[in-house]
Amino acid sequence: MFALEDLSPAIGLTLAFAVALVLGLALKFWLVTRQIRYVARHRAEVPARFAGRIALATHQKAADYTIAKARLGVLEMALGAVAVLGWTLLGGLDALNQALLAVSGAGLLQQLALLLAFAAISGLIDLPLSLYRIFALEQRFGFNRMTLRLWLVDALKGLLLGVLIGLPIAALILWLMAAAGPLWWLWAWGLWMGLQLLLMLVYPTFIAPLFNEFRPLQDPALQAGVSALMQRCGFSAKGLFVMDGSRRSAHANAYFTGFGAARRVVFHDTLLQQLTPGEVQAVLAHELGHFKHRHITWRIALMSALSLAGFALLGWLSGQMWFYIGLGVRPGIALDPALAAAPNDALALLLFLLVVPVFTFFMAPLLAQLSRRHEFQADAYAVAQASGADLSSALLKLYEGSAATLTPDPVYVRFHYSHPPAAERLARIPAGNG
Ligand SMILES: [Zn+2]
Repeated sequence: MFALEDLSPAIGLTLAFAVALVLGLALKFWLVTRQIRYVARHRAEVPARFAGRIALATHQKAADYTIAKARLGVLEMALGAVAVLGWTLLGGLDALNQALLAVSGAGLLQQLALLLAFAAISGLIDLPLSLYRIFALEQRFGFNRMTLRLWLVDALKGLLLGVLIGLPIAALILWLMAAAGPLWWLWAWGLWMGLQLLLMLVYPTFIAPLFNEFRPLQDPALQAGVSALMQRCGFSAKGLFVMDGSRRSAHANAYFTGFGAARRVVFHDTLLQQLTPGEVQAVLAHELGHFKHRHITWRIALMSALSLAGFALLGWLSGQMWFYIGLGVRPGIALDPALAAAPNDALALLLFLLVVPVFTFFMAPLLAQLSRRHEFQADAYAVAQASGADLSSALLKLYEGSAATLTPDPVYVRFHYSHPPAAERLARIPAGNG
């Protein structure tokens, strides 16, 4: 039996968790209603600085699309909160754990089964809204190109990859938790970071091609300008690829990926269809700007610092009985000193993954701010290496083509936008006003 005073940290955690969940939900709800109202209020008219460059119908489509996405976001947010609550304080995770213990007894297999069952149930909970997003919302606005068949094939491939990659990692981490002593979290963090870097190396060459076709950029109209630009910026031209993004979506995109010898810039074919050669060069210069400013290195450093803090916290929390009890789970306890307790490591992992985002959401503005700063830096680099006029017309076409609203709510932007809104970006590009 626990003495009464032993329960006070558990009760404290329950309260802190409940307060953070409610506050976070209220904040997200406030932000999204602001966004919906702001966009609706500016729907009737194209903003003055874009007048003549963006048609009213385009502007209104963007408003409707933004609002539809935001409304779906409200549903997802509510469902997410209910799921977190259901798993923790309402006893879902505890019931699942006890049921699996009854079937297979304590041990590594039971813990892996718990992780798998949790992933399967969470996936099923998210399924209806994710199908709705693709086949109803994206479809309605003309962006979806996926068939149900392709969706199924993607899902199966993703599942298989998840099991092939995720399961051995989970087993290794559970083994470290049980066998590596009090500093297990440091070993686990090392393993985790090593795997992240390995995945970044193999993703472009081995994983991404499972889902899309990549071919080297070999457009004669583009070739000369692109080669000159790459040479100017000190890059080898081998890392330029075109991806058949049009198989799944009409949204156009370009991104950089990998590092070291594996780094590459990827253009969606949809982007090349929409832009002139000069505009493509400007977009490429922007992506090269991310390399030049070492944004990937920055991101890796930030990610490793945050995950080190996370693992250290988990290392400490997983040894505290109140961590489990306060979040609605009965931990395994050895009642007879001669017997070993059922291990709690999988429970600790799942509780941590469920509960930490509830607290870290309040950090979202900081991360979004950093990301938007990187975008401005890449834009500035593009202006220096290519043409500001091309960059601004390319950006305008991309915002237009993806039905991104030109009038987002400024406060919503601070929290949720990883890229600056069109007006802010164009304002900083010379010739972007023209
Ligand atoms: Zn960028």
